[in-house]
Amino acid sequence: MTNINWNDYSLETQAIRAGHRRTHEDEHSIPIFATSSYVFASAEEAALRFTGQKPGNIYSRFTNPTVNAFQERLALMEKGERCLAFSSGMAAIMAVGMGLLKAGDHVVCSRGVFGNTVLMFQNYFSKFGVETDFVDLIDTAAWEAAIKPNTRFLFLETPSNPLIEIADISALADIAHKHGCLLIVDNCFCTPVLQKPFELGADIVIHSATKYIDGQGRCIGGAVIASDEIIEKFIYPYLRTGGATMSPFNAWVFLSGLETLAVRMKAHCDSAFELAKWLEQQPGIAKVHYPGLASHAQHQLAKRQQSHFGGIVSFELVGGKEHAWKLINATEMLSITANLGDVKTTITHPATTTHGRLAPEVRAAAGIKDGLVRISVGLENLEDIKKDILRGL
Ligand SMILES: *Cc1c(COP(=O)(O)O)cnc(C)c1O
Repeated sequence: MTNINWNDYSLETQAIRAGHRRTHEDEHSIPIFATSSYVFASAEEAALRFTGQKPGNIYSRFTNPTVNAFQERLALMEKGERCLAFSSGMAAIMAVGMGLLKAGDHVVCSRGVFGNTVLMFQNYFSKFGVETDFVDLIDTAAWEAAIKPNTRFLFLETPSNPLIEIADISALADIAHKHGCLLIVDNCFCTPVLQKPFELGADIVIHSATKYIDGQGRCIGGAVIASDEIIEKFIYPYLRTGGATMSPFNAWVFLSGLETLAVRMKAHCDSAFELAKWLEQQPGIAKVHYPGLASHAQHQLAKRQQSHFGGIVSFELVGGKEHAWKLINATEMLSITANLGDVKTTITHPATTTHGRLAPEVRAAAGIKDGLVRISVGLENLEDIKKDILRGL
């Protein structure tokens, strides 16, 4: 099994079998290595492992077999060279910043990224002399215009949250490389099942494993995938020192999550597409945001760039916040929670939750209206989901 070249296998197979190095116990399912440290045969051996001259485990802050298996599997699925796991998606983003940036550097970031990502650049990296300009995700010319001589990377999420806008990854990769910058893509909404940013020219892929990779809302985790060189030079040294490590137990949960990711994503996408079409027909809804709809501004781009349209649908109620809250409160089954990518359908009011800490003008510039409701479509029966939404429409 250890001799198989998993690159020759398809994503569905890699997701189930890659990464597990069977131990002398011949276990079929991957074990959780609940150990903080590892023993060395001699002082000489310890010294060689610490300098990296001899491969092997040292300490679970930066090497653990269960975590390694998750890293290897996700790297293969993303078609990236190497993956490092982190304690959360935000820790992964933090690691990229800490690893790559220094005082005096500049970042260009999409306005439509996860709320905490905006805060990370705006409130924290800024304290250390890194300046960030935020641009409209879909305005390719604005990205290029924002680049300065000291720009280190462009950072985006596509599709965006919660408006499900689509960025042209290839076009932005070309622009980034023309100006000597890296392109970083947070691939949390699509997962490698729907979108492969490296094939489109991205340099670094970020994940919040908390979402679809877990898929059942249990654990918090994240990952950074990049070339060997980027990981070795910039990200691994930070993980080893910074210590935002993924626990072996969480890695074990995420490994089993990856095993069912492809079938779950297909089911999420099929239901979300049906729900989006149905929502478009309902009175009281001003606009439905879903890239599978012909009414979506980047429908053609989504078709080209993704293998399916994703599991998240958002829509704007005519009556603003009052109607949005009324609809959310009238549901009896849907989970009122900010998490997404779960088998359970979740419903959120972005303006007062996930994006509530953004200044009102920042939120308005990002296009997040008070009547906006976001649904992460789960795997319950679709008719039951519709019935629950209808209660408050
Ligand atoms: C949730 C999320 C994050 C942050 O991940 P955590 O695991 O919650 O820290 C980052 N990016 C996107 C797109 C997310 O949805």
